[in-house]
Amino acid sequence: SEEKSLNFLEEIIEKDIADGIHGGRVLTRFPPEPNGYLHIGHASSICLNFGLAKKYKGLCNLRFDDTNPVTEETEYVESIKADIKWLGFEWAAELYASDYFEQLYGFAVKLIEKGLAYVDDSSAEQMAAEKGDIGVPGKESIYRSRSVAENLQLFADMRAGKYPDGAKVLRARIDMAHPNLLLRDPIIYRIKHAHHHRTGDQWCLYPMYDFAHGQSDSIEKITHSICTLEFIHHRPLYDWFIEQLEIFPSHQYEFARRSVSYMITSKRKLLQLVNDKYVSGWDDPRMPTISGMRRRGYPAAAIRKFCDTIGVGKRENLVDITVLEFCVREELNKTAQRRMAVLDPVKVVITNYPEGKTEQLNADNNTEDEHAGTRSISFGRELYIEREDFMEEPVKKYFRLGPGLSVRLKHAYIITCNEIVKDADGNITELHCTYIPESKSGSDTSGVHVKGVIHWVHAADAVKATVRMYDRLFTVEDPANAEGDFKDHINTSSLSVLDQVWVEPALLQASENESFQFLRKGYFSLDRDSQPGHLVFNQTVGLKDTFAK
Ligand code: ATP
Ligand code: MG
Ligand code: MG
Repeated sequence: SEEKSLNFLEEIIEKDIADGIHGGRVLTRFPPEPNGYLHIGHASSICLNFGLAKKYKGLCNLRFDDTNPVTEETEYVESIKADIKWLGFEWAAELYASDYFEQLYGFAVKLIEKGLAYVDDSSAEQMAAEKGDIGVPGKESIYRSRSVAENLQLFADMRAGKYPDGAKVLRARIDMAHPNLLLRDPIIYRIKHAHHHRTGDQWCLYPMYDFAHGQSDSIEKITHSICTLEFIHHRPLYDWFIEQLEIFPSHQYEFARRSVSYMITSKRKLLQLVNDKYVSGWDDPRMPTISGMRRRGYPAAAIRKFCDTIGVGKRENLVDITVLEFCVREELNKTAQRRMAVLDPVKVVITNYPEGKTEQLNADNNTEDEHAGTRSISFGRELYIEREDFMEEPVKKYFRLGPGLSVRLKHAYIITCNEIVKDADGNITELHCTYIPESKSGSDTSGVHVKGVIHWVHAADAVKATVRMYDRLFTVEDPANAEGDFKDHINTSSLSVLDQVWVEPALLQASENESFQFLRKGYFSLDRDSQPGHLVFNQTVGLKDTFAK
């Protein structure tokens, strides 16, 4: 097989191992903020961090970056863990940045003691005005020269809850003329009298991202801290804290965020879709969340394959959603059992088939999988076929059913249509056909050849089901960057519910989330909304890419 070339992160890691950096040890981490459900972009980061650890015989931590009490919830923590496991990865340790609050507070005290941090009483507006701009040096705050002793006291008072939100902040004392604006005395602690999902009301003081992330990496002795490109300008600050605090030298590397066409990859925006009820929840099958894709029937292996296929890079681009769908189809083709389901039924009566008689036919479950075996399906006088497999006035080269035309019923017989029965409004209600008894699949001696093969179900034991058909959730390729609000581009007909579907009875044994290929119709997965006796399927993906019409 073709040897894949190394991506830039693999090159870095291989060099580090060769140079004996950190004794050749590799420890990565996946650091979600528990403020929403994971999406396809996170899947890419998960595959990358866990994948690199695995490839280089290292480990990967799961660290909840839970330093912002207001938006974080335990429900999200649980969903994140379930999603990572489902994707097929195991973390070395489950950790929480909030477990480091005491240690991080200690780090801040150490900076104060070194004269490298101070308490600032300025308003947010004042600080913004003093920040300066690119090429324009900032102005030092009047509080910048506070003594170490005063800063220590004030910081302790902040922790003790003596001040309201926003009254004071702790800032690193770096350089108000630094060319990188992020290093102009960044805020590292803010007062927030808010309940935290894990630490409760223990703290009213919370560290900023920049003061929590790198130090958390360092506490865990992470060797390669991989984040997305927008943090590249934060790296000097990441390094500055580690250097000043004289702690383990973790190193940050950046790669380009992943976005997929017709999808939104921002938890904040996805939360709006949930809150405003554009979708039924975070795991609505139209959502680009891992839980939505799982419920839709996307196999974990297909998502991993997709992430591997698109790889990592340093430039952001929109990955075509058809690449993801291709991976899904390819995986399901190998693994999904075949069944017959008629989504839009019309009844067929085989007039020369004895009334009351049924027979059992043999049907292969999946010819792509030698272990899939066969199942027995019943056949009788009354069947359902798809309405679209019949044409009253057939066009040229129409190889399915029409007046006087013959077609093969999959796994069964050749039938010919002789009569159309209509109701008072002219709608076709039944097709009366005859079958050729010698044309049974597998033992056909009829000598009759037909081009078309259609699927069907036996009316006598068919099971009623509901099928949810899905279209793209957005009408434009790049909803996040399209004109106006992203919600202006929601596809209002992304869901259509078919509730007159007939499926073969073998599907009564289907388990939740199990995937099937409905012959000629695509892939479908059993939804958790199914009740005993009432099956509900979600369309996963069609058999072919039919979107680019
Ligand atoms: P969002 O904007 O959706 O909230 P985030 O980056 O704030 O995304 P985090 O929970 O902080 O979400 O993400 C955890 C990890 O996943 C981070 O390391 C982040 O860089 C990575 N990540 C998030 N979105 C993407 C994406 N679209 N592509 C690749 N990696 C991503
Ligand atoms: Mg983040
Ligand atoms: Mg975010």
